[in-house]
This record gives sequence, C-alpha cells and structure tokens, in this order.
Amino acid sequence: MSHNKNLLILGLSATVLLLSGCYGAQADSVARDGDTDPIVVVATIPLLADLAKNVGGSLVETHSVVPPGADAHSYQTTPGDSVVISQADLTISNGAGFDDSLIPVLESARPKGAIHVVASEGLDGQSRSEIEGDPHFWQDPLLAIRYVERIRDGLAQADPGNAAHYKKRAQDYTARLRELDREIAGLLDQVPPGRRILITHHQAFSHLAQRYGWQTMALAPGDAGSVTPQAIIQASQIVKDAGLPSVFVEARFRSTALEQVARDAGIMVSPIYAGLGGEANTYVEMMRFNARSLADNLR
Ligand SMILES: [Zn+2]
Repeated sequence: MSHNKNLLILGLSATVLLLSGCYGAQADSVARDGDTDPIVVVATIPLLADLAKNVGGSLVETHSVVPPGADAHSYQTTPGDSVVISQADLTISNGAGFDDSLIPVLESARPKGAIHVVASEGLDGQSRSEIEGDPHFWQDPLLAIRYVERIRDGLAQADPGNAAHYKKRAQDYTARLRELDREIAGLLDQVPPGRRILITHHQAFSHLAQRYGWQTMALAPGDAGSVTPQAIIQASQIVKDAGLPSVFVEARFRSTALEQVARDAGIMVSPIYAGLGGEANTYVEMMRFNARSLADNLR
C-alpha cells in the first residue's frame, strides 16, 4: 500500500476546508515503527474510531467519516470522505440502523477485500422490549466491551501478523472499561433512588439506564422521531412527580421543547453526550462526563 502521500495531501486540504467551516473525515494518524504502513481504519463515527485506536494503538491510523460534534443522524458525506474510505483496510459501522445512511458510501468507496465490522452485531436481540430500537448500545460500558471484541477480531483479520498485539491491547482496554463501569455505578449511586430518571430530547440513553437501574424518557422516541405535545406533557408530569432538579440536553440537539419543559418547571437543563464532541474527546471521557453530570445535577 502506498497511500501515505494521498493522506498527507488530504490532511492539508482538510486543514484548509476546516478554516472555511466544513470538512469531512478527520485524520488521527500515528505511524508504526519501521517501514510498514499502518492499518487504516475508517469508522462511521468518532466514538468507534476511538475504540479502534485503543485496540490498535500505534499499528493503526484511525479516521471517522462523521466529525466530532456533528450529528451522525443527518451527516452528509463529502467527496473527501470517499477518498479516506478508499484507503481503508478496515471499516467499522455501528449497525442496528444507527448509521445506515453512511453504508452506501462505505460500500462504494472502500477497497475490495477491506474488512468490515458491524460493531453492534449480535446485541440487537438482547435488549429488553422497551428499549428495542435504541442503537446507542455503547452507553452501557459492558456492551462497549462487546464492540471492542468485534473490533479486535476485525483488526486481527485485516492484519493477522499482529493478532496477538490486538488481543493484548483489547484485554487491557477491556479492564479499563470494567473499571469505568464501577466508577459510573459509584457516581450514579449518589443520586436518590426516586430521582434516577434521565429525561432527554432523543432516546440515546436507554442502555445506560438499563445497566444502572435507571429510567429514561425522551421527547422524541427514535432517532428520526419528532416531539409530540403528549410527550411534552408526560415529561412535565414526570419532572413534577419525581421532583427532578434537571433534564438533560445534548449540545448538538437544540431542544426548544425540552428547554420549555425546564423553564415551565423552573429547573435546570444540564449537558449530556450521546457521542463524542465538545468536552467528550474519548469514549471514557464521555461516559465519565455523563455520569458526573447526572450525579451533580440530580442529587
Ligand atoms: Zn442517536
């Protein structure tokens, strides 16, 4: 493979485009030792690229089609994205309907023979019935570990000579995620049981709730759903009944409806992240930020 030059040129044009306020895939490259090219991983979203970086270390160069902070549900790909995808040894999507809109460009641009991993494969049928249809499985760190296993296997398939390296790093990272799980449980335990209710604009946190025994309510049920007057009334009622001091809004979803609910009840709107962006640069940072935000604003 001789794609380093292309990526360098792409990196340059991405910098220029960044100044003009719109750009496509982001490069996060670390060359591996010696003269071998790194394994190029292109994920649909930054969170999946971060997991791959943790498993691959310096042997991989990771990219995300959707930039940090952008809304994965409505992202429009650019020609620059296709150039990056065309260098991929491994592509990663979330699956379960989350990033379906990006699959056609992944399929058409990626090289023949590149490996593709659907990170959530096998998780869909395991949800309780009330959270079926929430594809943000990573909000449960134990399910994120399942993602890590898929990514590890994909890397081993794309680069069999370094399978032991990926296995070791996946083990180490999994240990960090188990620690993160305990840390989150400890933070969320600070919230009185009657207030363990997370009200958001879009339903992205049902797996977090299920893991830690919380309840969730979203104004818009699915990723494409719209807010109904009934949902606003219901949210206001829950806020009142449980005496919730806060509802939670993602920075990238300006939710005038949820802000109205908070204003009417005289309570706070606090930040939360469904994916990477803003103060959440890595998966671990994001999960920690969310748990702290819930603990600080609901207790
Ligand atoms: Zn979503």
